[in-house]
Amino acid sequence: MLVIGIESTAHTFGIAIIKDKKVLSNCKSLFTTKTGGMIPAAVADHHFDVFDSVIRDALKKADAALKDIDLIAFSQSPGLGNCLRVGATVARSLSLNFKKPLIGVNHCVAHLEIGRLLFPECRDPVLLYASGANTQVIAYDGGRYRIFGETLDNGVGNFLDSFARELDLGFPGGPKIEKLALEGKKYIELPYTVKGMDVSFGGLLTNLKNKYRSGKYPIEDLCYSMQETVFAMLVEVSERAMAHCEKNELIIGGGVGCNKRLQEMCNIMCNERGAEFYAPENQYLVDNAAMIAWLGLIMHKSGIRMSIKDSKIRPYERTDEVEVTWRRE
Ligand code: AMP
Ligand code: MG
Repeated sequence: MLVIGIESTAHTFGIAIIKDKKVLSNCKSLFTTKTGGMIPAAVADHHFDVFDSVIRDALKKADAALKDIDLIAFSQSPGLGNCLRVGATVARSLSLNFKKPLIGVNHCVAHLEIGRLLFPECRDPVLLYASGANTQVIAYDGGRYRIFGETLDNGVGNFLDSFARELDLGFPGGPKIEKLALEGKKYIELPYTVKGMDVSFGGLLTNLKNKYRSGKYPIEDLCYSMQETVFAMLVEVSERAMAHCEKNELIIGGGVGCNKRLQEMCNIMCNERGAEFYAPENQYLVDNAAMIAWLGLIMHKSGIRMSIKDSKIRPYERTDEVEVTWRRE
């Protein structure tokens, strides 16, 4: 089956073409700024401006034509309403024009399922989903992907981006902080907030901003200490979820998952408990349309069908609201 995937939950507008388990193309255009953060209406304008060229690009790379597509999958939830609406509108018009079925998917679940596609030996992992807006520890239990731990305030990426904005580094800030952290020499004590399997970043952000504004600390040391602290929090809650669920595979997802230090810390934890750690390549960690196409395909194969009137966006849908019909083990 030839499937087109459409991703538009936040800053990324992505289009992918997959043929069964093979990704033929995975294209995107990213909303970025030199200073300041992201304003939802401006991001949606970006998506409207680029959707046509990203579709053409993806079709060309896949050597495919729209008329040959069998299924249209789009990210229906969760995300910024303005942005989700662009992807849903594109999906509906393709569906009506080419008389092909459409299917809306949950973006968080897609991050986990693409990992299971990329690593066939990894069958029942805990997912550390560390992205801009989301920070969740997710695992399969009783027919659903359940959230065992999550942030009580900001997503870890938004937290990194907020601090980067304070430092005037522009958006996205995570990669710039990673670079600066490599130059850090001294660990500065910071608040560490883990509550059971949940984490929170608000107090830490205020503390970091105050330290930065005092002018007493090199920014490289602040970035280094910030990474060590927040990644230790994420690794701690992932390990607790693995112990609780008795699972011995950890997979990472989300843009913050590109961070080499976070991957290294996850790897150390997994080695120490005799578990396996899986890190997909960066193009599948960040928001991408290949994972949307893949989840759409397995949902469709499990018998799920959606009409245009079911295709309304669901900006606030939670991972555990999705009934997992495609997995029986
Ligand atoms: P996503 O929402 O999954 O596409 O991820 C976007 C988030 O990932 C943004 O907040 C980025 O700042 C963050 N990010 C991307 N690359 C890195 C990196 N190397 N280290 C830390 N954060 C990163
Ligand atoms: Mg994401």
